[in-house]
This record gives sequence, structure tokens and C-alpha cells, in this order.
Amino acid sequence: MHNLPSVSELLNSPIGREIAARSGEKHAADLIRAVIGEARSEIGNNVEISKTSVRADVSARLSAAWLSEQSGGTHRVINATGVVIHTNLGRAPLSEKARRAINDEASGYCTLEYDIETGNRGRRAARAEELIVELTGAESAIIVNNCAAAAFFVLSVFASGGEVIISRGELVEIGGDFRVPDVLEQSGATLVEVGTTNRTRGADYRAAVTDRTRMILRVHPSNYRIVGFTASPGLTELAEIARVSNVLFYEDIGSGALIDLSTFGLADEPVVSRSIAAGADVVTFSGDKLLGGPQAGIIAGRREIIDRLRAHPLYRALRVDKLAIAALEATLDSYRRDAASSEVPVLQMLSMSKEVIEARARDLVERLDAAKPKGSGLVAQLEDGVSAIGGGAAPAAELATKLIAIKHQTLSAARLEQLLRMSDPGVITRIADGRVMIDLRTVSLNDEPALLTLIAGVG
Ligand SMILES: *Cc1c(COP(=O)(O)O)cnc(C)c1O
Repeated sequence: MHNLPSVSELLNSPIGREIAARSGEKHAADLIRAVIGEARSEIGNNVEISKTSVRADVSARLSAAWLSEQSGGTHRVINATGVVIHTNLGRAPLSEKARRAINDEASGYCTLEYDIETGNRGRRAARAEELIVELTGAESAIIVNNCAAAAFFVLSVFASGGEVIISRGELVEIGGDFRVPDVLEQSGATLVEVGTTNRTRGADYRAAVTDRTRMILRVHPSNYRIVGFTASPGLTELAEIARVSNVLFYEDIGSGALIDLSTFGLADEPVVSRSIAAGADVVTFSGDKLLGGPQAGIIAGRREIIDRLRAHPLYRALRVDKLAIAALEATLDSYRRDAASSEVPVLQMLSMSKEVIEARARDLVERLDAAKPKGSGLVAQLEDGVSAIGGGAAPAAELATKLIAIKHQTLSAARLEQLLRMSDPGVITRIADGRVMIDLRTVSLNDEPALLTLIAGVG
């Protein structure tokens, strides 16, 4: 194939040298071969292109392939979307204490399953589990990989081969790949639907109990609401039906809050301790939703239930790692000291008032006007808007915010959004009415200087 540069020629070009220096000769040569192959098939034999333009083309392809490879992987970003629990951006940002616990306590050797007083083997996550017990009033607790694993675990161990009664209003899908009917089926349990989408009564549950019934399942619909002509029995009533029928009452509350969040505008979010107090035998919830910690699935409930889970072989497959345990311990410790609303970022962000956000936004716009280059096409102004909680929690709740709406005289909003997203660190924004919207609710104060420089840098 004439005109195409050779692998060694490209390897010795400036971009080739840079790639080799940063990723190794072998990987650089592989990447170059792939790019040459791609160019060869596209350019074809019959196209007349001068030698220099082929070279420039292949070189440009190589740079692009390298850039795209670099942007893969896990990188820190600035979340300017205003979605507090943003699943695609890693859900809850960790508190300073949780970050320090991962780094200082858990990343090397640590007391993961070691009792420092006796020098004997200790129980994994014992401290975090004690804190959950203290904070929820449950008899015992166990921690697994995430809430989906927790639900699967509870259903597999206690309902496999039997029937699980659930209201038709709770057969929900949460985040694409967690569908309540599918999880039930996978666990080996048979689903028994009762009631209707909008109304289910205690009598519906009672009538569905048979000698094959293992449990009554209540699922918090999380990411959607049925409003209007609705009914469902209260937790205490369900717990009582389960008790007299001699079956378990399991509640999957998904996000779940450890403290009452009604002062944050989240009146509908179930609080774990209330479910336990109302008589739920077992409750599952996520570590990285409203709790504001690392990814984890927390199972809290009656001692004999938790003991059976701990002794089950599935626990070995679903258990949580030392980094998450350390972060969870630190996060739960903030709750125990009654300091969660000032230390846990999710709660700080949820409680941030529109006035505070507006003051920050006004200040940032002023500094942007001073920092942007002469003749810059950037125009920024303030506008009312709403932030979202995200993570499938409280879909009806609206948090009033002040947005910074950014336009550019020559760049489209889509281009502006892309430039910010591809900067380092990436700034994730959303577009509305042809403008790029920045919501400072989800931007930490520490990130504001970087955000300012990156926006001004767009020019
Ligand atoms: C989010 C959610 C889950 C899944 O939790 P993960 O921690 O994402 O696995 C399960 N059940 C409910 C009700 C939820 O809201």
C-alpha cells in the first residue's frame, strides 16, 4: 500500500513518541497499527491522495485515538447538573472523613477481619453494623455490595421455592436493570400480585396468604409516585398481617433515610428506624443514595434473620470490600455524632438554600466577567430553576435553585457543553433553551476556582 506511513515511522513521530512514553512501546505500536489499518481500509487503493496529506490524516487519526483512549477510565468530574445523587456520576460524593478513612485506614493493611484486642480473627464490618443498629433501632445488621444484592439475598434465602405477596402498585423498575418482578423470579420465589396499581388494601394481602406464602414484600416505589385516588395499608397493618399469618414482612426502601428529611423538603422518604419500629422484620437500603456514603446494600432487621444471612454461602459472594466498609463507618459516624447535615455532602447539598446558591452564582458570574479573555463571546446570566435529588429518591420533590445560564456568541450550546465536558477535570452540565446551565448546588466550594477557569478558558 503506497503512501501510508510505516509503523516505525509513526512511532518515531512526536505524537508516536509521546504515546510510547506514556503507555509503552508495545501499546503505542498496537495503536499505530490499528490506525494505519483503519486508514488503509477507508482510503482504499484507488483514491488519489498526496503522500503528505495521507501522513497528516494518519497522524490526526492517531492523536484522536490516543485522546479518546485517555478520556476512558475513571476520572474526577465537576457535577454542575444540580442532580445530587447522579447515578452516572458515581451517586453520593463522599465526605472528607470518609475519604480520609479510605485513604488512611483502609487502603493498606487494616483490621478488616481482625480483632486488635485479642489478636484473633474478627468479624468483617462489625463496627459499621453496630452503628447501623444504633441508628435504626434494628436488632442486627449486615452489609453487602449494593441494595440490589441485598434484595436478592433476602429473597433467595427466605422466599426461594415459596410465594411472596406484593402490591401491583409496587411492581416497579428502578434504574433500568432492577425490576422487582425479575429479582423475585431470579431468587426462585413466586410472585403473588395483589390489589391494583393505585389501590391495595389490607384485606387483599390477607386473602392472598396460603401455606406457601413466605413473606409480604413492600417496595418503596422510589422513582415514581401514584397520586390521586390511592390507598395502601400502613406499615403497622402489614406487619400485623404478616405476624398473624406467620410470614416475614420485608420492606425494600431503596434509598431510605437514616434521619427524617422533611425539613429538607423530602417528606415522603421512608426513614429506616420508622420501618423497624412499625414492625418490619427486615429492611434493605442503599449506602450511596440519601445516606450519602459508598456503594453498599444494608440489611437491618431481626437477629435470627441477619444471623441466617451471615451464615449463608451467598454472603461470601455478595459481601462488601474494605474501602467501602471504611467509608461507610466514617459516614455513619457523622450521623451518630449528629453531624451528618454538616459533614455528609448529599445532605449539605439538599439543604442548601436558593439564597446561598444565588449568592455563590452571582459571585461566580462577576468573577467570570473579570476573568474571561478580552473580546470573549461568553455571556452568563442568572435564572430561576430547580435541582433534582436523583438516585430514584423523592421524584416529586423540587429544590428551588439559581442557575447560571451561559451562551456564546459564536459557539453553539452543544459545542460549549462538549468543550466543558472534555476539559480537565470534565465539567458536566445540561442544556436548556439553547444555553448551557450550571447549578452550583452540586459543585463543592473547592471546585469553584477550577470551574471558573474552565468556563473562562472556553473563550
Ligand atoms: C435504588 C433501589 C434499589 C437498588 O439499589 P442499588 O444500591 O442501586 O443496588 C433497590 N430497591 C429500591 C427500592 C431502590 O430504590
